Amino acid sequence: MHCPYCSFSDTKVIDSRLIAEGQQIRRRRECPECNERFTTFETAELLMPRVIKQKNNTREPFDEQKLREGLYRALEKRPVGEEEIETLIEDIKKDIRSSGEREIPSRLVGEVVMQNLRKIDEVAFIRFASVYRRFEDITEFSEEVEKLSND
Ligand SMILES: [Zn+2]
Repeated sequence: MHCPYCSFSDTKVIDSRLIAEGQQIRRRRECPECNERFTTFETAELLMPRVIKQKNNTREPFDEQKLREGLYRALEKRPVGEEEIETLIEDIKKDIRSSGEREIPSRLVGEVVMQNLRKIDEVAFIRFASVYRRFEDITEFSEEVEKLSND
């Protein structure tokens, strides 16, 4: 793999290990030219169902990068590490695939994400839910907050 910093044509793997319960390989690489280090993640590419958008009924490919960005935003300044987030993403994808459907509504994707997120961090769950449900139904969000304060 080329160096993302100086584009040198060869980089060296200095550490390699399994994460996300063996679903992923994390590699630390080092460039012999500029000595910069960076990380790569390797996962099997399994077919994900297409997502049906509520608004106009259009179909879109499942966007893992969008999911990752949303989770990182929700988990900002929370005591949850990068590896836990990657495990979370794998769990979410597994749950979505296990529906066995070739197309699933975006609302269902949101529910799966929230269920899994709630297991690891309540605050992040509330953040995600507030953004996600803002356009759906504002009362649901206050219900969630209420449930939390009653716990
Ligand atoms: Zn380099």
